[in-house]
Amino acid sequence: MSTSPKSVVLLKHHLKALKLPTILSECEKVAARCAADNADHLTFLLRLCELELIEREQKAAQRRLKAARFPTAKLLDEFDFSARPSVNKPLVLDLVRGDYMTRRENVLLVGPSGTGKTHLATALGMAACAQGKRVRFWRVTELITMLREADQERQLLRLRSHLTKLDLLILDEFGYVPTSKAGAELLFDVIATAYERSSVILTTNLPFENWTEILGNERLTGAALDRLTHRCHILETSGESYRLQDAKRRRRQETKP
Ligand code: ADP
Ligand code: MG
Repeated sequence: MSTSPKSVVLLKHHLKALKLPTILSECEKVAARCAADNADHLTFLLRLCELELIEREQKAAQRRLKAARFPTAKLLDEFDFSARPSVNKPLVLDLVRGDYMTRRENVLLVGPSGTGKTHLATALGMAACAQGKRVRFWRVTELITMLREADQERQLLRLRSHLTKLDLLILDEFGYVPTSKAGAELLFDVIATAYERSSVILTTNLPFENWTEILGNERLTGAALDRLTHRCHILETSGESYRLQDAKRRRRQETKP
């Protein structure tokens, strides 16, 4: 016996009220398929619930990606490990599984410009989003500007409470620009808070011994390094810039007879 059109309308109304949009849009198709397969009622319900859950999870993952504000999407699959032998590939493949976040460990990516630090940091961050983690990517200078503005507008508490809800903070490009005293203190505060409750991925072109040049204060630098390196994995991306390598490779190919 088929359902009356009136019942279908009523059902859709209820599904809308219950906020089950996927079940609403799919129920008739799935019902027809289940009828064709001779599937029982519970199987029908199971299939619908699965669809709703998958759709919800995908939407949530998209929202997390958007909220993380990665400058460009980068995947680990696109990273050519053979071009960067200094990078510990087994470690990266282990990190991408995300267990380091449960242990509140940090990842420091150290190396010259153009060697794939931002690429790796983004790839790890995107993987974390897919695993349901709350992530936010900042260039260090951007974060400091934001902190200083929030401080001036008496919004610092709000920004801090947002930061404490994150599972992973990505601080990109530490060391390109020296920070002011106030900026260094605000940045330190973020690092110290993250140390208590989340993971940090930090990329830098500066060896640790030069960090004082950026933070301008030996004591603060020591305290920041102490926290960042307490539980941390270090990835070194030494060598020549990838773009330069790539350009040279292409030129060699072009000049081949
Ligand atoms: P960094 O942050 O160290 O300055 P980036 O991660 O921004 O370097 O890398 C510069 C560009 O080169 C990016 O477009 C990045 O995707 C690419 N790149 C760097 N290293 C690799 C690599 N090993 N394999 C593929 N692409 C790479
Ligand atoms: Mg970079």
